[in-house]
Amino acid sequence: MLKKQDNLLEKVVSLCKRRGFVFPGSEIYGGLANSYDYGPLGTELLNNISNLWWKKFVQQRLDMVGLRGPIIMNPKVWEASGHVKNFTDPLVECKICHVRLRADKEAELQAHSKTHKDTETAWTEPKNFNTLFETYIGTVEDDKVRAYLRGETAQTMFTDFKLVMESMRKKLPFGIAQIGKAFRNEITTGNFIFRTKEFTIAELEYFVKPGEDDKLFNEWLDYQQDFFVSDLGIKKENIKTVELPKNELAHYSKRTVDTYYKFPFGWDEIAGIANRTDYDLKNHIELSGANLKYKDLDNNDEFIPYVIEPTFGVDRIMLAVLIDAYQESMARSGEDDAVHQTEITLKLSKQLAPIKVAVLPLSKKEELAKPALAILKDLQKNFMCQYDETASIGKRYRRQDEIGTPFCVTFDFDSINDQKVTVRDRDTMDQQRVAIDKLSQHLLEKLETS
Ligand SMILES: [Zn+2]
Repeated sequence: MLKKQDNLLEKVVSLCKRRGFVFPGSEIYGGLANSYDYGPLGTELLNNISNLWWKKFVQQRLDMVGLRGPIIMNPKVWEASGHVKNFTDPLVECKICHVRLRADKEAELQAHSKTHKDTETAWTEPKNFNTLFETYIGTVEDDKVRAYLRGETAQTMFTDFKLVMESMRKKLPFGIAQIGKAFRNEITTGNFIFRTKEFTIAELEYFVKPGEDDKLFNEWLDYQQDFFVSDLGIKKENIKTVELPKNELAHYSKRTVDTYYKFPFGWDEIAGIANRTDYDLKNHIELSGANLKYKDLDNNDEFIPYVIEPTFGVDRIMLAVLIDAYQESMARSGEDDAVHQTEITLKLSKQLAPIKVAVLPLSKKEELAKPALAILKDLQKNFMCQYDETASIGKRYRRQDEIGTPFCVTFDFDSINDQKVTVRDRDTMDQQRVAIDKLSQHLLEKLETS
């Protein structure tokens, strides 16, 4: 069973490289641990996930606004946030081969122990290792100019809390969202894009009146879960939430619930929600001297808001979405090519599919290619498209199934006379004749209903 599941991850990794979703980072130089490049289709997929998130968490809510902060902030930010002190991983070292591993990753420790066969593994005592990435501003490496690549995106939302509130005339409760890169000097390797040194985080800080935090925490938890199932189309049975025990809470958290996905390598975290209380604003007030309190104009009460923080690992979600959508079948497209082999279909939701429509003239002949290219040009106004005129039509359909393209449009010899094209559906393989002048509208409607 375990072997079969490992195999699924390998299959997805292989598909990702072969079809331009994800490449190993800096591969021509032998790569770099925990580093990946997103190819043309991976870039589209990541953007589509981010855009769906933004739509649900910012665009569709009156109480939310967005923000885009820098990766390098004043290093004092990270002192106030506690990251300089507390953003650490407990590491242990194998006394035999000096491999360093996270002391809190039981499965990885056991896996390593197994490589020793007969000899008992001995680990050193855990030592804390700060995972903030350091850098230097200017040209001199000196403590005075030491800075950090941000360890989370949250801090801009705290430092700019008042600026956003006043410029946008917001009252509690309201939130600020951001999508961007965060960095972690990660030493554990493996599991593809699940664990990387730099990753895209989508998160929001929702400022609330103390006392209303528990109720709003639960509301955001439901909203967050809805995103996975209704918006991303992840199968419900592959998602679960895990309440973190008190002794495992991050240094700023009163309550944390993580969301896990059933990866081939086991259940693991793709998102979380934390009650950060007034921890961050309080520390920023103390260290900066700025007044980041909220004044309730109804009764002149002044207080430091509490913060509910739903957070999403976009790369991990992308991996979950790919695994969830991966399906194999035996020659489902029939005898077209006579070679019956395993066919891959990426059953991504239509909104996530990197390519929405492929335009395929039945042959390369100019009488078909020319009008097909004209159709392509028109469709490109609305959709990410591909154009493919090589190989048999069956083979071209399968190329599109493999990358999750919901619709293929075929221009054939009949099309010249009846001005209709064949629209083929990825999931049902149904083929429908649609008038060329109604094609764009037809596809827009089809793509809206998922
Ligand atoms: Zn060892």
